Amino acid sequence: MKAAVYEGKERVIVQEVAVPMLNEGEVLLAVDACSICGTDLRTYRHGDLKINPPRILGHEFCGHVVESRATEGRYADGTPIQIGDRVVMYIVILAGTDRYTEMGRENLSGKRTTMSYHHDGAFAPFVRIPANAVAQGNLFKVASDIPSDQMSLAEPLGCVMNAHSRLGIGLKDTVTIIGAGPIGIMHALLSRAQGAQKVFVIDTNEERLKMAQDFDLDGAILSTSDGAHRERIAELTNGNGPDVVIVAVSAGAAQNDALEIAAKAGRVNFFAGLPKSSPVAPLNVNHIHYKELSISGSYSEKKSDFQAAYALLHSGRFPASKIVTHRLPLDRIQDGFHLMETGESLKVCITF
Ligand SMILES: [Zn+2]
Repeated sequence: MKAAVYEGKERVIVQEVAVPMLNEGEVLLAVDACSICGTDLRTYRHGDLKINPPRILGHEFCGHVVESRATEGRYADGTPIQIGDRVVMYIVILAGTDRYTEMGRENLSGKRTTMSYHHDGAFAPFVRIPANAVAQGNLFKVASDIPSDQMSLAEPLGCVMNAHSRLGIGLKDTVTIIGAGPIGIMHALLSRAQGAQKVFVIDTNEERLKMAQDFDLDGAILSTSDGAHRERIAELTNGNGPDVVIVAVSAGAAQNDALEIAAKAGRVNFFAGLPKSSPVAPLNVNHIHYKELSISGSYSEKKSDFQAAYALLHSGRFPASKIVTHRLPLDRIQDGFHLMETGESLKVCITF
């Protein structure tokens, strides 16, 4: 089969590899769709020390079961896994318990491994699901007829849910998302779904702002080096600033903007990390002090977040079809990376 294999920085090569052979307890999926994550792009451009090449990337996937050596394999609801079932996967796999699994924060566990990092991912026609993942109920059956490219959003939407599970957005809040890529748009839509009074996005890319106007938001604001966007956000929130600011772009300047624009008593979430090569950003931390801000981080997702994302997509009430803007065959994955970098696309999905 042809797979997109990460071999090192700037080297993601579509090449012939063997179809995986199953061991006891494992399941083989034929991949229908696998979206490109921002981290796939980051791995391609900058490399990732957590990944031992060669490794097939791709962890936002939907596929169907073509072979199983998990005779007792079941979904979380107890129904058996059967050949032909269409599924999505919670990609955090645990090899035991620790204090973080005990507190229901398995995304932070030291016992975790992850698809496309430690196990081959789904930029390939077939992906092998490890026995631990099957036994832990990490596969979720797709029972509706929602297309597979849209269901591939369950993984990134789950990561977005993880941040929201600690932000508690509700009817009293105004929200601003810095970064109007696919993740930023998903944050904005979830904020709206939770009843936020006003939801704005900010971005430096005009293409992205244009696309953001297709969604039910209160404004899409251009970020400029003169800082005019900060004044604009203040005006749009009665001079107070937003109650919640989520940073969905990997830039220290955006993190500082978030502290600057947040209302007093506001909540700020650093959803995106900074490049590991330069993780230190100059921040005016006096905003945290004088405005009594609450700052949170967000990394990966808990299984409960994935379950909630899966349920929301399944309900058909989430505009997933508008978020997947491009579908490409695997041999055009480089074009997909390019579309993401220019901001012409929201989600780019590789389809098989
Ligand atoms: Zn992802």
